Order: sequence, then structure tokens, then C-alpha cells
Amino acid sequence: MTQSRILVWFRNDLRLHDHEPLHRALQQGVEIIPCYCFDPRHFGTTAFGFPKTDAFRAKFLLESVMDLRRSLQQRSSNLLLRIGKPEVVIPELVKPLNLTSVYFHQEVTSEERIVERQLATALQPLGVQLQSFWGHTLYHPDALPFDLRHIPELFTNFRKQVERDASINPPLPTPVNLPALPEIDPGDPPSLSDLGLESPAVDSRARMKFVGGETAGLARVQAYIWESDRLRFYKQTRNGMLEADDSSKFSPWLALGCLSPRYLYAQVQAYEAQRIKNDSTYWLIFELLWRDYFRFICAKHGDRIFHPAGLQGIDLPWRQDWQRFDLWRQGMTGYPLVDANMRELAATGFMSNRGRQNVASFLTKNLGIDWRMGAEWFESLLIDYDVCSNYGNWNYTAGVGNDARGFRFFNIIKQSQDYDPDGKYVKHWLPELANLPAAKVHTPWKLLPVEQQRFGVRLGVDYPNPVVDLFQSAKANETLYNAAIKSASRPSYGVTS
Ligand SMILES: Cc1cc2nc3c(=O)[nH]c(=O)nc-3n(C[C@H](O)[C@H](O)[C@H](O)COP(=O)(O)OP(=O)(O)OC[C@H]3O[C@@H](n4cnc5c(N)ncnc54)[C@H](O)[C@@H]3O)c2cc1C
Repeated sequence: MTQSRILVWFRNDLRLHDHEPLHRALQQGVEIIPCYCFDPRHFGTTAFGFPKTDAFRAKFLLESVMDLRRSLQQRSSNLLLRIGKPEVVIPELVKPLNLTSVYFHQEVTSEERIVERQLATALQPLGVQLQSFWGHTLYHPDALPFDLRHIPELFTNFRKQVERDASINPPLPTPVNLPALPEIDPGDPPSLSDLGLESPAVDSRARMKFVGGETAGLARVQAYIWESDRLRFYKQTRNGMLEADDSSKFSPWLALGCLSPRYLYAQVQAYEAQRIKNDSTYWLIFELLWRDYFRFICAKHGDRIFHPAGLQGIDLPWRQDWQRFDLWRQGMTGYPLVDANMRELAATGFMSNRGRQNVASFLTKNLGIDWRMGAEWFESLLIDYDVCSNYGNWNYTAGVGNDARGFRFFNIIKQSQDYDPDGKYVKHWLPELANLPAAKVHTPWKLLPVEQQRFGVRLGVDYPNPVVDLFQSAKANETLYNAAIKSASRPSYGVTS
């Protein structure tokens, strides 16, 4: 009689360590079929017409999938690769492979949940059991001091309660050996051009070289935490925008699940035991809690996070001004901090947290542009794109998130002076400003004609004049915001928790 088998469906969990579906499947003592589907829908276009997964992100994904395949092969198994919708591809494998169950990590947002439901519908008549596991956060929902419907709306309340009343489970071990795959075509990955994309050019200015996959992710943890000992200073350096080690840069590997947050937590604990426990070691976990929070909030509120009025239901008259949006995404707004960050994103697929906060604030609070255009642009480009963190942060920065506390905008000039005092970062990405002294590089519009000549930059020719006045534009958008707040259809949960 043919042996029964469990298919482990890999999604944004491209790792072998701390992988509950794989771990539980192994405990069943049956053959295991690891499988990944390249879903064509992930390579379509967003609502505003951007590639849903642009080249940087797609390259990182392909690298991650292939790394997983290599790791499985080293353990006598393999990764089945298929191009197609999971709800079509997986049921087709049931008969030839005699599958009894499909194990996978569940997601929380609608596009992903729809796929899960459709897969369940397709598997049900075939008598195949579909079993989901939770595996993207530090805290497991079962360990939370509240159920998912009662997640506190404010981050601080969420954090304080979990820190006080919940604990984080240790990571599950990495399997040493896996059962061999039966006779089946393992399949080939698509190339970037099969996905309609060109290989992204490597920009030599990028200080951090990101390579997808669990192997590279684990190496980054080793290098950042242990070898260069940067965790010790994380809190002091994390707002830096230029250097590879300013912050951890764990996010791309976390987003595709090449790194498990619980593994990171265990590493921080080991570091605290062996080297030092300080504000910085705490702060890395604090930041990871934001990631947990946004995922739980998405689980609680569903599609509300994608609505223009956001979690708070604040109906702002967002503009879809493509001319200004293009200046923003091309890094041509005339505000060096914004432009340098947007050019870094376009050239590398990455931007620091400080940068993201500033460019998102500028788009929404100064240009008054629909935050969803910015969110989709990030979705298209960011190698660490994570639906919950991205849309959660955009809600927050646009002032429509559940943590919204009135109209707050980033003073780009002050931010530039605080976080790039010598102008190194903006000069790195805006070579046309390279000769400006630090005191003038963040406000080039103030340069006198004689200074423009001396520093080799002609305003309006080599570098643009500001697209809007920083304070007048913020004032105008604040007026709109305050009017909208008055008539806001507040969701029933309020912000009291
Ligand atoms: C508008 C906007 C959009 C964003 N989109 C994404 C996204 O798509 N994917 C993503 O992972 N992060 C997103 N972030 C959060 C944050 O900018 C990145 O996680 C961070 O810059 C990644 O760099 P790092 O790994 O060096 O971070 P570190 O400072 O080293 O932080 C460690 C980890 O904590 C988590 N983290 C830190 N800050 C946040 C935060 N504000 N929200 C959620 N998690 C956080 C990340 O997993 C990060 O890897 C966004 C922030 C903003 C303001």
C-alpha cells in the first residue's frame, strides 16, 4: 500500500528553524512533501498600477526559496516548486502523492486568507485535512492575556500587558534529517524574466548587501549580534540611515520568514546572559513588539487597515496628484532628506525606519497625497515588505491609524539636522549636493546665486526647488485633518483601551 503523506506548504516562512508545520509533520512519522507555489497574483499590479512585487523583492524571494531548497536537499529532502495558485496546484498533487494532510502557517490579511479558504474548499471533497499553525510573531495568540478580538488598540497598552502577563515560547529545533521525496518532478523556479521583471541593477552605493534566504539571515544575526557586537549599542545607533550596522537590517529575512522572531528573541536572551543586558538589548525586542502588534491588529480589524479612512475611520480628502507623487517617488521634491531616502529605496529596495517615517509624513502631511499610493509604492519595492507592518505603519503615519493622536507631522528640516547633522547621508544619495557644507546641505533653497556657483549646484536645474512650503503645506493639511476629525465616523472600538 502507498504510504500516506503530509504536504508542508511554505509561504512567508522560508526557513527550517522554528517551523511548526514541519516540526509537527515530522512528529507524525510519515513522508513529508515540502512545497512552494509561485502565485501569479503576487506578480500582477497593485490598485494604483505598480508591479505588486518589483524586481528587488522578487530577487530576494527567489534567493530565499532556492536557499530553502538547498537546505532541504542537504537533509535528503527537496522543495517542490510549482508556478500557479496554491488552491489549484496543491489539490492536483493529492492523488499522485497520496496526501492526507496539508500543514501551513496561517496569515491574517484578506488576500492570503481567501487563498486559505479556497484551498480548504478544494481539499475538502478530496478528504484531505488542512491544518494551520501560527508562526510569524514573538507571542503565540494562545499565550496572550487577551483574545484576538480584544487586542488593545494602543501599542503601549498592548506592549505593557504582554510584557507583564505573557511569555514567549522557545523556538522549535531545526530538523537534522528529513524523509526523502518520492519519485516526482521537483520543478524549476521561474526566472525574473518569467515573472515579467528585469534583474535589478546593483548600486555600488548600497552599504548593505541583502541576500535572500535562511542561511544569509542566520549569518546576519551572527554578524550583527555576535561578531561585530552591535546589539550592545543598538538603541543609540538604530536611527542612523547610512551604515549597514546602524540598525539590525533583520526585516527582509523576517518578512519572508527566513528568520523567526522567536529565534531572535532566544539570541537576544543568550547575548544578555553571555555579554550584556542593557537598554539596547531590550530595545530590539521592543521594536519586534511593534511587528507583533501590527499583525495582531490586522487579525482583529481585517480589511479596515486598507481603507483610505484607516482604522480610525477618518475621512480625509486625500489627493491622487500623480505629478507630485512622481516627484516624491523619484526623489525630486527639493527636500534633501526626502529625496535621498526615496532614491535609496529606488536604487536598493531598502530604506531605514527614520527615512520611512519622514517620507511617509511628507507624502501625507505636506503633499496631502493618498497614503495608499505611498503604501503600494513601498509594497512594490521594499525587500522587507510585510503587509501588516507596511499598512499598519502607513495608517499610523498618515494619522488614520488606531494610535492616531491628532495631526502630527515630521519637521523634515529638524529631522535632517538631528539625524544627519553632517549631511553625510543626503550627500551619499544626492551627488549633486556633494559640495555643500553641512550647514547648508539640508536647505539648498536658501543658497544665494553666488553660493550656488561656488558649490556647483544650480537650483531648479541640478537640484529642484521645494515642491511645497514645508510649514504652509502642513498647516493647510492640518485644517483638512481637523475638519475630518470632527465628522469622523469613529469605529465602535474607540481608542479607550
Ligand atoms: C511607512 C512605513 C512603512 C513600513 N513598512 C514596513 C514593511 O513593509 N515591513 C517591515 O518589516 N517594516 C516596515 N516598517 C517598519 C520599519 O521601518 C522597518 O521594520 C525597519 O526599518 C527595518 O529595518 P531594521 O530591520 O534594520 O530595523 P531595526 O530597527 O533593527 O528593528 C528590528 C526589527 O523590529 C521590527 N520593527 C522595527 N520597527 C518597526 C515598526 N515601526 N513596525 C513594525 N516592525 C518594526 C522589524 O521587524 C525590524 O527588523 C515600515 C515603517 C514605516 C514608517
